[in-house]
Amino acid sequence: MAHSENGFFDNYGGKYVAEVLRRPLDELEIAFKEAMADPSFIKELEIIQKDYIGRETPLLYAETATKLLGGAKIYVKLEGLANTGAHKINNAIGQCLLAKRMGKKRIIAETGAGQHGVATAAACAKLGLDCTVYMGEVDVRRQQPNVAAMEMYGAKVHAVTSGSRTLKDAVNEAMRDWAANPDTTHYVLGSALGPAPFPDMVREFQSIIGKEVKKQCAERGIKPTALIACCGGGSNSIGFFAPFIDEKEPRLIAVEAGGIGPGVGENASRMTGNAGREGIMHGYKSRFLLDEDGQALETRSISAGLDYCGIGPQLATLGAQGRIEFTSALDKEALDALKFFAKNEGILFAMESSHAGAEAIKLAPKLSKDDVIIVNMSGRGDKDIFITCPVFRPEEWKQFLISELKRLEENKDIHNADLMKDH
Ligand SMILES: *Cc1c(COP(=O)(O)O)cnc(C)c1O
Repeated sequence: MAHSENGFFDNYGGKYVAEVLRRPLDELEIAFKEAMADPSFIKELEIIQKDYIGRETPLLYAETATKLLGGAKIYVKLEGLANTGAHKINNAIGQCLLAKRMGKKRIIAETGAGQHGVATAAACAKLGLDCTVYMGEVDVRRQQPNVAAMEMYGAKVHAVTSGSRTLKDAVNEAMRDWAANPDTTHYVLGSALGPAPFPDMVREFQSIIGKEVKKQCAERGIKPTALIACCGGGSNSIGFFAPFIDEKEPRLIAVEAGGIGPGVGENASRMTGNAGREGIMHGYKSRFLLDEDGQALETRSISAGLDYCGIGPQLATLGAQGRIEFTSALDKEALDALKFFAKNEGILFAMESSHAGAEAIKLAPKLSKDDVIIVNMSGRGDKDIFITCPVFRPEEWKQFLISELKRLEENKDIHNADLMKDH
């Protein structure tokens, strides 16, 4: 099922929102369809994808990794080379361009770890739009580098103090804002989920990944056996898979966060774990990690981007139909994959993408030399040094932080007096 019918992918999807959001969602759907059928909008999108995002991103033959694993040939789609370091910018730019076309000058977004907030803030800076990002207070405290980046791009970061003060509260707050300001404001949702038309729209803006892969394969005479992507909400995987969904091949494999194990609260495995069940949250019906009372369960993963209790409705449907195979990788397996591709290919996977890398390491030896696996490196790992360094070099990292703190204290006067004069 390549797109929804009346907002539904079989049983999942829909538009479960308060009455006040129906009109803005309907208007968005119409505007999106018109824009995608307008050659001048497509042209504008293509130019900014090329000149600002830096597309197309390369398809790298991972020669050493292939030799070491001794099975299928491995290729890596280097989506992490996109401006801002991950695939999220594809969707942010697409939606912001659409908002501009609709005459909206104000953008709001939700963010958890901050990656979608950073992409949206950058897109707004590029396109001259006013930007407010809703972020749970707990996340604001944990993710200072991303908060700083958003502010450098000129966005206002609004710390959300309700509920658990994390991502799901930020989504609720963003929806409330949108309901109050639908005529001036567009809500840029960050993954292939939420009420219709977001799942279709986000997939279309991310499908540039899969379209490029298809073209790059044709240019080189490659016929992929399997595509592998990590899966949080599902935007990089569905964008990568999109042009192949209606075909029998290749195999499409989505990798969830296996966290530290199979127990409830130890992972974010909605499709492969034992706590995933049908539910309705954040405006859509899908599979969620829920307790007996239908409340969202705590999730856990080393990668912030996969640490979410829901999954996009199209992915849940394609999983139920068997077109997408779901699997998971443990935190430890992802860290091993990160090291493997860094050392042997000179590419630093984001923690999220490392889950896809881990599955390639498991699968390649089981296939033949004629087979081809393509892994989507959804992002690069520079952003993760606060996660990876304490794991790989705990003592040195601690000493580094202590000395940085000391340096900051000692230089305090200089900073205050000179550098910050104009602020
Ligand atoms: C946010 C993020 C993800 C997970 O989100 P999806 O919508 O499932 O793609 C994966 N990789 C990176 C680098 C991310 O920033």
